[in-house]
Amino acid sequence: MTVLIINIKQLVQVRQNNVTVVKGKEMADLPVLENAYLMIEHDTIVEFGPMSELDEIEADEIIDAKDRIVLPTWCDSHTHVVYAGNRVGEFEDRINGLSYEEIATRGGGILNSAKLLAETSEQELYEQSIKRIHKLIRLGTGLLEIKSGYGLSLDAELKMLRVIRKIKKELPITVKATYLAAHAVPKEYKDNKSAYVDLVVNEFIPTIAKEKLADYIDVFCEKGYFDVEDTEKILKAGVDHGLVPKIHVNQFNIIGGVEAAVQHNALSVDHLELLDDNDLEHLKGSRTMPVALPGCSFFLSIPYTPARKIIDIGLPLALATDYNPGSAPSGNMNFVVSAACIKMNMTPAEAINAATINGAYALGVSNQYGSICRGKKANVMITKEIPDYRYLPYSFGEDCIDKVLVHGMIWDL
Ligand SMILES: [Zn+2]
Repeated sequence: MTVLIINIKQLVQVRQNNVTVVKGKEMADLPVLENAYLMIEHDTIVEFGPMSELDEIEADEIIDAKDRIVLPTWCDSHTHVVYAGNRVGEFEDRINGLSYEEIATRGGGILNSAKLLAETSEQELYEQSIKRIHKLIRLGTGLLEIKSGYGLSLDAELKMLRVIRKIKKELPITVKATYLAAHAVPKEYKDNKSAYVDLVVNEFIPTIAKEKLADYIDVFCEKGYFDVEDTEKILKAGVDHGLVPKIHVNQFNIIGGVEAAVQHNALSVDHLELLDDNDLEHLKGSRTMPVALPGCSFFLSIPYTPARKIIDIGLPLALATDYNPGSAPSGNMNFVVSAACIKMNMTPAEAINAATINGAYALGVSNQYGSICRGKKANVMITKEIPDYRYLPYSFGEDCIDKVLVHGMIWDL
C-alpha cells in the first residue's frame, strides 16, 4: 500500500536527519517545505520533497492537499484518559469558590475518581475510555501515554492497567502505559502513609512489573501527597523492576522532587508550574525532559509552567494534555499548543516542536515518531484549508484538522 500526498502548501517539521530532541534556541526552528509532496509506503515515510521534483503522480492512494498543511501527529506524553465517569459536580463547586485542595480534603478529587473507578467494571471502563481516545485521534493525536492511578488498591490498579493493555492492542496508534503508583493516599492509610508506600514498593510494583503491564513508573510528588523520600523509594523500586521514571512534580509546591527525579534518571518531569533556579540547574545536562501541561493550568487557574525560563537557558520542553477528569478534562492537543503560545509565550514553532518531536522524546520513541523524516512512522495529519501553520495555535478553539493518518492508514472512525 502506497499513499502519496501532493500539492502540500506547507510540509511542517521536515527533518533530513533523524533529530530526536530539540533544545533551547533550536526549538524556534521548525523546518517547513513549501508546495511539497510526501510519499508513504505501508506504515513508513519513504520520501518527500518539493512538487517540482516529483517525477510521477502514482500511488495506491493519492491525496491532494492543496491549500492544506501537513505535519506529524501530536505526541501526547501525559494523560489519565482511562477513568470512570466525570467530576462535573466538583467543577461547579470550584466555580462557587472551593479550591482544588479544599475539594480533595473533603474526599473529592482523586479519591472521588478512585471510588467511581472501583464501581465500574473492566469492560465498562474500557468502553468509556476508548470512546474518548477515538475523538483524540480525530483531533490529531497519534502517540499517547496513559497512566493508572485511580485504582489505589492493587486490584483496581491492575484493572486500569489491563484496560490500557487492551487499548494498546485494539488501537492502531502507539500507546505507552505508566503505573502511577502513588497518586493519592487511600483513606484507610490516611494516618499511615509509609505503610502504603511499603505496600506499593513490596507488593504492587513487583506484581505489575511481572505481568509486564507498564513501561513507566510515576509518583505525584507534592505536599499532602507523597514527599521526596516516598518518591525516591518508589522510583528506586520501579527502576529495579525495569520501569522508567516519569513523575508529577512542582505543581503546587517546590519540595525537591525535580532533583530526585533527575538523580533517578527520569525520562520526564511533568507539571513544573513552579520552578526555581536549583531545579533548572539539575535539569541542565540531564536526559530528563521537562513537560508542561497548560490545559491543567487553564482549567485550575494556576500558574503556567515558565516555558521561557526553561527554553531560554537551553533546555528542551515538551507539551502534553494531562487529560483527566479533575484538573484537565480535555485531551485536545490543538488547544494545548494554542495555550502554550498565548499563555506561556512560546512561538508557534516552539510549541509545535514541543508537541511533536519533544513529546515523542518524553515517551522514548522520538527515533520513530514526531517529525517528517525518511524511515520514520507515517503518523501525519492534514489540516483543513488554512493559510499557514501559525494559524493552528492562532485560531484557538477552531477544529482545523481534516485527516489523520496513523501508521500510513487513514483514520476514519
Ligand atoms: Zn497528570
